[in-house]
Amino acid sequence: MNESDKNTALIRNLTLFFGGFLLFTDVFFLSMGIIYDMPIIRYVIYVKLVINTTNIYLILKKHYLTSTVIICAVILGFMITGVVCMGTEPAFQLYAVGMITCISYFGYLHKRVLKKELPFVPMIAVHVACYIGVYVYARFHDPIYNVPRSAIDIHIIFNSVATFSIVILFLYLFHNIAIRNEEKLERMAMVDNLTGLYNRHYLLAALNQMETKSPVDRWIALLDIDDFKKVNDTYGHNCGDYILHQIAVLAQETCKDCIVCRWGGEEFIILSERKSCGSERLEALRKKIADEVFRYEGSDLRITVTIGVCSYNESLSSDIWISKADEKLYFGKNNGKNQVVL
Ligand code: GH3
Ligand code: MG
Ligand code: MG
Repeated sequence: MNESDKNTALIRNLTLFFGGFLLFTDVFFLSMGIIYDMPIIRYVIYVKLVINTTNIYLILKKHYLTSTVIICAVILGFMITGVVCMGTEPAFQLYAVGMITCISYFGYLHKRVLKKELPFVPMIAVHVACYIGVYVYARFHDPIYNVPRSAIDIHIIFNSVATFSIVILFLYLFHNIAIRNEEKLERMAMVDNLTGLYNRHYLLAALNQMETKSPVDRWIALLDIDDFKKVNDTYGHNCGDYILHQIAVLAQETCKDCIVCRWGGEEFIILSERKSCGSERLEALRKKIADEVFRYEGSDLRITVTIGVCSYNESLSSDIWISKADEKLYFGKNNGKNQVVL
């Protein structure tokens, strides 16, 4: 399942969860309406039952936007009824604040996934207007029904638990999405798409960090594929891409404890913090590539690489260090290629 399908499923499940939860609350409040003999509550619940059942049908038919607006309107309507009939303002206040989180998350999901705009501002404006209206109304009117205090407490506790749970759930989902997207962006910014290796940005950041650490044995190697242009010209660009990918695999396999990155084009940089066995390792890599027969769409290709290596010393900035390795590489290119120049 790709990201977009996952998010569509999330919208569907959340809307369905909300719709289903409303049906459950209908049963709860209908019982209260019967037990405490509140005809208005009962009639409102009957209407709510019809709307909420129709709404489940709308969700199953993928009318998520309409359904979300209906769900919010229905809960809002019932909250107002609660205040008018029973005087349950605290439940309404908590719900109104909680709803802002839910509406904003739904608005985000609708826009990102369904490319549809939830009327966010009007919905929030209606909630705020109703909140003030209900507050003023309750200030001047007694509730229609004089139910026992325990019934009001049950109503308020039920609403509080429901609102807190839903708000926590939505914040958790929001938080998860934000972290996932940030991680994805970070990966995209640091990793080369074609080879899966780290890219130039990552390497420069790694070098910057190293500069602040105490100097240790380090070397840097600049690897360039020999006559790569000919590969592209003879076998096509896709074949060139395939070779780049395979060289990346071989470099990673051979230099496991090093940072291997694609510096750009057909050039790679290998960075190590351990001086020992650098030359042997790089020679092994050069030989491995030279011995490998690369098969691409029925053709056998032989590829060689030239590698310029430079050890670190404290007086070198990252730029100079890399350019010193580049000078060695240049020397190798001018002296027969297919070699490691130390
Ligand atoms: P030398 O031995 O001197 O390094 O010769 P060369 O042909 O490898 O070097 P040159 O710099 O002339 O050519 C590099 C080529 O690499 C040119 C460019 O088209 C190719 N190239 C750069 N990036 C990519 C890529 O992402 N995919 C493919 N297929 N080719 C690329
Ligand atoms: Mg090059
Ligand atoms: Mg080249």
